[in-house]
Order: sequence, then structure tokens, then C-alpha cells
Amino acid sequence: MVTIREAREALKLYFGYEKFRPMQEQIIDTVLQQKDVVVLMPTGGGKSVCFQVPAVVLPGLCVVVSPLIALMKDQVEALLANGIPAAYLNSSLSAEQQYKTENECLEGKLKLLYVSPEKLLSSGFLSFLKRVNVSLFAVDEAHCISSWGHDFRPEYTQLKALKQQFPTTPVIALTATADKLTQKDIQEQLYLRDPAVFISSFDRPNINLMVKPGKDRFNRITDFLSRRHRQPGIVYCLSRKATESLANKLKASGYNATYYHAGMSAPQRARAQEAFLRDDVQIVCATIAFGMGIDKSNVRWVIHYNLPKNIEGYYQEIGRAGRDGASSEALLFYSFADVMNMRNMLQENESDQKQTELQLVKLERMQQFAEAAACRRRILLQYFGETMEKDCGNCDICRNPPTTFDGTLLAQKALSAVARTQEQANMGLLVDVLRGARNSQVLQAGFDKVKTYGAGRDVSTLDWNRYLHQMLNGGLLEMAYDQGYTLKLTEQSRQVLFEGRKVQLVKFEEVKQDEPAMKPR
Ligand code: ADP
Ligand code: ZN
Repeated sequence: MVTIREAREALKLYFGYEKFRPMQEQIIDTVLQQKDVVVLMPTGGGKSVCFQVPAVVLPGLCVVVSPLIALMKDQVEALLANGIPAAYLNSSLSAEQQYKTENECLEGKLKLLYVSPEKLLSSGFLSFLKRVNVSLFAVDEAHCISSWGHDFRPEYTQLKALKQQFPTTPVIALTATADKLTQKDIQEQLYLRDPAVFISSFDRPNINLMVKPGKDRFNRITDFLSRRHRQPGIVYCLSRKATESLANKLKASGYNATYYHAGMSAPQRARAQEAFLRDDVQIVCATIAFGMGIDKSNVRWVIHYNLPKNIEGYYQEIGRAGRDGASSEALLFYSFADVMNMRNMLQENESDQKQTELQLVKLERMQQFAEAAACRRRILLQYFGETMEKDCGNCDICRNPPTTFDGTLLAQKALSAVARTQEQANMGLLVDVLRGARNSQVLQAGFDKVKTYGAGRDVSTLDWNRYLHQMLNGGLLEMAYDQGYTLKLTEQSRQVLFEGRKVQLVKFEEVKQDEPAMKPR
């Protein structure tokens, strides 16, 4: 059996790194024991090494499934430059090139083969792989397999075939963003056998999180920029047109800005990207197409001109700031009009009713993050299943805390209603129960008979929604996307119900207008 010592030597020899990062070592050790592994690690955490090193030291070929065709070439070139024989197969190659690569696989000449899911599942490919000695399957961007995730790719669900066809070959699934349900889905859908799950912290404490009202955003941006002389940053915009017009407006105001979106030609995009990497241009106004695979460590700030569609996307985009660990900023503009626009956009695309519903709920979580009056980092991490011990001290809410009131009684009413409706009510229905509404849904379920029926009559529907979202954000409740968005109790809710834990709630107020104090740098 291959040992972790050999892996350490390979890390040094091929990658030039002195030692593994803490979690990498455990992960690789587990892979070498032929076990299935799930890795959740933020972008930049060092996921690639987790399968590339085993690929080098294990006999045979490691097959890497990745949806990012655009990045395959770069990754393979980087491996080749390190002296590791690697290749890729996807629809961009000629038949001749594919044939050559397949032959190299059969001759055992390659250590890593990157394939798109389409290629992997194309006819005859899996039987071809049976003639190759496959040491390991790595499924990158594994969240794409889950229809509960934010980037569902139907072709990924066919990856079930891997374990069916290769029951004894270990699988390592990796992702940088997956809420709790998606994490579970990855394991189930890939048929992983009792996998070891590694979750590294998603916290990026050096990024200051801020939300501001969307009113007058251009002036707010130039005001922000005037205090960040030449610091490189990205403004994410919703549409291609918006990236261009904002870049032009910024240029007209004397800033060194450019734009980037998927509608530009490849050379145009490369030029914009290069200029930003070399610090020739300070500001890129971009759609979310920008940033994937870009390794620029000194991005000092990220602005969201519009509300992102979901928290997963928001987290990934702000994560492009401050990779070097130095103090950085994420500024999000929030306006209700943006939410309405986004809702309309989602609803227009009615092809898949269930997906639309899910996207709307995710958007609502994003909206509640923007409206929230509790530590933003706490909310963000809770979303990915990580509970913080204390508030972060580096977000606008922590710096400028809102006044709270003792909401224990309200929380108890809500949680007890959740319990008494057997965790079968979604938010709308629960509010109806709390407010004692007599509609058919309530009556049919017999919820007018539960003890807490009408116990929260004195609070408006809107306020109940806000309080319940605060509770969700704080981990006092969970929402089961896969069970009709019903609300579920958590360990923390039990503490409130049975152990006298206190709950502070915030009365809703407009997002704060004033600029939070800047940290000295
Ligand atoms: P991810 O895929 O998680 O986004 P990468 O695998 O691209 O992250 O790694 C991020 C960066 O960290 C890369 O520049 C990589 O070379 C570097 N890196 C990874 N592992 C180590 C290590 N053990 N020691 C030093 N640098 C590392
Ligand atoms: Zn905070």
C-alpha cells in the first residue's frame, strides 16, 4: 500500500511544497486507504492537491470529472509543467486528438485524465475506462449533482453510473460551496460508501462584510473608491450591458476601469483579465462569469451592484477578495426593486416549476441576509452548516449593532408551534397558525386545534416573517428544502424550548444609511 510518506515526498518533488496543509494530509491519507471521501473546502483552500498527489503516487490513472471545460487546459498544462503526465478529453478536441489521448490511457502513460461529464457518460466511454487501470475518480464541483444546490447540472446526476460500474474504485467528491442539504445529496447521489467527510472552515475573517441601500449607488461607489486609491477590485453587475455602462461611467469619472462578460470574444476577455492580473487596470465591472479560475491574491474589495441570486453565489464572489489574507472588503447594495426584478426573472423561466420554487426560496434567504440585523458572518457560515462561537467584529452589524429586544417569548411561541405542527408547516403556514388564520390549509391540516394556534395574533404577518428569518439565520430553525420548505427544530431550538436559553431579536428597520467606521490598515 502507498503510504502518506510517499505522498509527502511527491508533494515536495512535483509541487515544490514543503508540507501539506492540515486537512490535506488527513484527506490524502484517507484516499490512500481506498475510502470514499467528500471534501468541502473554500476556493483557494487547496482542493486540487487532494486528488493530484494521490493520482501521482497510486498505480494507475486518476479520472477527474469537471464541468469547467474552460479550465481543463490550464490545469493540465500546470500539471505537465510540474512533470506529471496528464491530459483532458472534452468536446473541444478533434477525434484524432481524443484517439491519441485514449491510447495513452491504455498504455498506462498518464496519471491524470480530466473529462467533462458529457464525455464521461458518452457512449462506450465507461467500458473504455474498464480497460484502463483507474486508481481514483475525482468529482470536482460536486455540488452540481444536487438539484438543491445553486448550480444544478442535470448531466451530473448520471454520475451515479460511476459506483455502479466501478464499485471498488474510490471516489473523492470536492466542492467549494454546498449548503447542508446539498452535502447530503452529494453522498447519496454518488452512492458513496460510508464516506469520510472533511469540512474545512468557510470563514474568511479578513473580509469586512457590508450592506448598503441601493439608492444612489453610483455615488456611493465613487465615494467608496475615493478612499481606496488604486486598490484592485471587482464590481459584480447583473447584466452584460450594465458592466459596460458602469465601466464607462467610472472611466468618465477618472477611474481606471474595464468590463468583462461572457458575451465578449475570447481575446477581449483574455485582455481584460490580463490587465487586471497585472494591475494595469484597477476595476473590473463584470458579470459572475468573471473570477472562476483567476488566481489574483490582492483583490482588495468586491462590490455587488445588485443582490446576488443566492448565498452560495455571494459567498463565492466575495471570496475573490483578500486571498492573501490581508484586510479586504465586500460591499453589497440592496434594494427591494432588485429583489422584485430577480423574482420576475426567475418566474419567467418557468420550464422547471420545482427549480423555480427552490431558486425563489434561495433568493429569499439572500434577501434576508441583506436585511438582517445580526452578525453577517454568523449568518453566512450558518448557511453552510458552521456555527460561530461569537460575533465576528468585522461586519457592518458588529461595528454598528442595532438595538435588540428580548424575543424569547416570541421565539418560544414560534418554536412550540413548529413542534406542535409536527415540523410539517412551511413559513407561510406557520405564520397562519401563529396568527390564528382560518384558511383551508390550516383547517385541512387540523392546525386550528394545536395549542399555539393564534398565540401570535398581536404580531403582523410581515413581522413574523422577519422574526422567523432571524431565527433561521441564527440557527434556531432550519428549513427543509427537500420537504416542502417545512421548518424544523434544531439543537438550539430545543435549548430555547426546554433549557431557558434567551433569544434576542431585532425590530426591523431600514438598512443602516451611515458608513461604518473603517478599520485602520
Ligand atoms: P482550490 O481548488 O481549493 O480552489 P487550489 O487547489 O487551486 O485550491 O489551491 C490554491 C492555492 O494553494 C494554489 O496556488 C496551490 O498551489 C496552493 N497550495 C495548495 N496546497 C498547498 C500546500 N500544501 N502548500 C502550499 N501551497 C499550496
Ligand atoms: Zn459580524
